[in-house]
Amino acid sequence: MNLNYTEEELAFRDEVRAFLDKKLPADIAAKVKGFRRLSKEDHQRWQKILSEQGWYATHWPVEHGGVEWSPVQKHIWDEESSRYGVPRSIPFGVNMVAPVIIRFGNEEQKQTYLPRILSGEDWWCQGYSEPGAGSDLASLKTRAVREGDHYIVNGQKTWTTLGQHANMIFCLVRTNTEVKAQEGISFLLIDMDTPGITVRPIITLEGEHEVNEVFFEDVKVPVENLVGEEDKGWTYAKYLLTYERTGLAGIGLSKAALSHLKELASRRLKNGRPLLEDPTFSQRIAEVEIDLTAAGISNLRIIASVEGGGVPGAESSMLKVKGTEIRQAINDLARRAIGPYALPFVEEELELDYDGEFLSDENAAPLSAQYFNNRKLSIFGGSNEIQKNIVSKMILGL
Ligand SMILES: Cc1cc2nc3c(=O)[nH]c(=O)nc-3n(C[C@H](O)[C@H](O)[C@H](O)COP(=O)(O)OP(=O)(O)OC[C@H]3O[C@@H](n4cnc5c(N)ncnc54)[C@H](O)[C@@H]3O)c2cc1C
Repeated sequence: MNLNYTEEELAFRDEVRAFLDKKLPADIAAKVKGFRRLSKEDHQRWQKILSEQGWYATHWPVEHGGVEWSPVQKHIWDEESSRYGVPRSIPFGVNMVAPVIIRFGNEEQKQTYLPRILSGEDWWCQGYSEPGAGSDLASLKTRAVREGDHYIVNGQKTWTTLGQHANMIFCLVRTNTEVKAQEGISFLLIDMDTPGITVRPIITLEGEHEVNEVFFEDVKVPVENLVGEEDKGWTYAKYLLTYERTGLAGIGLSKAALSHLKELASRRLKNGRPLLEDPTFSQRIAEVEIDLTAAGISNLRIIASVEGGGVPGAESSMLKVKGTEIRQAINDLARRAIGPYALPFVEEELELDYDGEFLSDENAAPLSAQYFNNRKLSIFGGSNEIQKNIVSKMILGL
């Protein structure tokens, strides 16, 4: 196994760097690096730049406008984009529903939806979870009943990330109650403007409107919006989840956050000396750095096995657990580093153009917000406990 980059991969890295030097808008990078709020417009502006470069749909086949990067190229992109302050890609259209449409959708669905995802015309959200169906997703109850050329949908989805911006939602719905739970689920594409849909915000710990509840009351969905076959949605749903879990470890993001933490700890003083030189604090940083280095190598190891024709299996669950624990540990150390400034929260400081008085010169508000927001990392994409169940079964054979 060779974990070093080849000449071609190094050339690709140079190309990525040249592109980011030239095309990444400075205001957007400043927001990402300063952990500030990004608007819908920021995301759309950056997506357009990526699309023009042909680098937006890295998982898609070339015939549909994708670029088919190798796993190593994707890894290089993740590392470099985290370092430069590239906004995270909103995955629901490009990385989640698109692979399902490409694999299981009909020609008309491909012709209709894929170009609109590439152009940014459609903003998708994910309608999987329900109040009684999270880890146990197959127990979902949102009902779709066929009436002529339509399904009539009734029920509720929850935790719908950025659903307030979306004009399309892909939903798992129950089309059959007579069979085993997994066998009566279908995959529907629903226009959010259809009468009967209500979106209500859920405000998270740090005061953000990032997630929503979505209610469906007698919503009429044309049957041509069914993906694949009726009652076969569980297969498509699981296929999508393999895409969702890819990249959740966030190694590149942790590297960027760790270097920010070190810089912060070198400025903050404890007993007149930089916090970074405090034995207890520097030991904590060292522990996290060792874990991150090990996780980075595991990530490369998994990439190398995929390059060699393998399929990422339970190792990605291991990486999700470890990677998200590391990200939360770095957030926790940043919270400790800013000390008392982590407590009072000035929401306006999250805006890049805030010109009021700052609580501290340490970017305290965004760091606190990030600490709270990233509690989600060990919950979504399959909670860490569920990932541990997978590891215990598949790797440890328990
Ligand atoms: C910020 C955020 C954004 C999200 N965005 C979306 C979205 O856009 N679309 C969407 O559909 N969903 C979304 N989700 C939902 C997410 O997928 C679920 O929260 C997740 O699957 C967990 O389900 P739950 O919240 O119902 O918790 P539960 O499944 O009720 O779990 C509660 C606790 O019990 C543990 N647990 C459950 N079952 C087991 C088991 N068998 N063994 C051991 N422990 C277990 C869990 O790990 C957890 O700690 C989002 C969630 C969050 C927090």
